[in-house]
Amino acid sequence: MIEVFAVPMRTRFRGVTVREGVLLRGAAGWGEWSPFLEYDAAVAEPWLRCAEEAAAGDWPAPRRDSVPVNVTVPAVGPEQAHAIVCAGGCRTAKVKVAEPGQTLADDQARLEAVRDALGRDGAVRIDANGGWSIDEAVAAIAVLDRAAGGLEYVEQPSASVEDLAAVRRRVAVPIAADESIRRAADPYRVRDLGAADIAVLKVQPLGGVRACLRIAEDIGLPVVVSSALETSVGIAAGVALAAALPDLPYACGLATVQLFTADVVSDSLLPVDGAIAVRRPPVEPGLLAAVAAGPDRVAHWEARLAEVRALRHDLGQDRRS
Ligand SMILES: [Mg+2]
Repeated sequence: MIEVFAVPMRTRFRGVTVREGVLLRGAAGWGEWSPFLEYDAAVAEPWLRCAEEAAAGDWPAPRRDSVPVNVTVPAVGPEQAHAIVCAGGCRTAKVKVAEPGQTLADDQARLEAVRDALGRDGAVRIDANGGWSIDEAVAAIAVLDRAAGGLEYVEQPSASVEDLAAVRRRVAVPIAADESIRRAADPYRVRDLGAADIAVLKVQPLGGVRACLRIAEDIGLPVVVSSALETSVGIAAGVALAAALPDLPYACGLATVQLFTADVVSDSLLPVDGAIAVRRPPVEPGLLAAVAAGPDRVAHWEARLAEVRALRHDLGQDRRS
């Protein structure tokens, strides 16, 4: 049984204004399959494994009962950045930088405001989404490290894995790989090229909680678990990974349900005092009905699902058997 949801976002994020996806029901409950619309069947296949694992209830045992998370500060002005951090209640802030059309001075002012709001003990990390060249990254990181009164790490300063490695050799601030990790083989390449100190892992693109746990063990880098903009059903899988990791030295990027105007559970996976309590809230049929997609979108997702299953069949890789 599948349900297709369409939830409007509070603000446009990653070019998405309405987040769509499928909820799949299995023996243990619901799993979320929400590959972005531009992804083809081969890319969307591991995302489906994640949903099937959730629906089957095949998650490792948790080692902790709550997961610290960061507040995310978009590329806004300093006053708004200050207000977002104060309202977020988190001890870690992730600040977007290198936004097209903005200057390094804009980033600097935003970081000074974030540090002021967070106080001395909070951690500040920045995310450039691959927006800098190697030289730009080296120069900007020095300026922003000072503006922030010390950066915890820099996420994806440049676009390619090779450039990440080059930046990492020239700065003292730790580097995290995010966009460089999209498929299961990517974390190994990041490690082999010495491109990052930290790996950002997302359960859907990498094929589920157990797959990510294996990757984390293999690569031997500290992991930050982040979301792929899911409802609380999908976030629960990310929380399950963060709860099962042997070490969790950094706050996770899982506080994203607040970007949605609605959810499919009443007990949404939102942070309290900077942490999400480890749990798996049940889907509320009434809330699910309220965000049900129209028939044309249901048909679209049914066709996508059939395409992924056909691909598995062609490859002789029907992993549900
Ligand atoms: Mg990122």
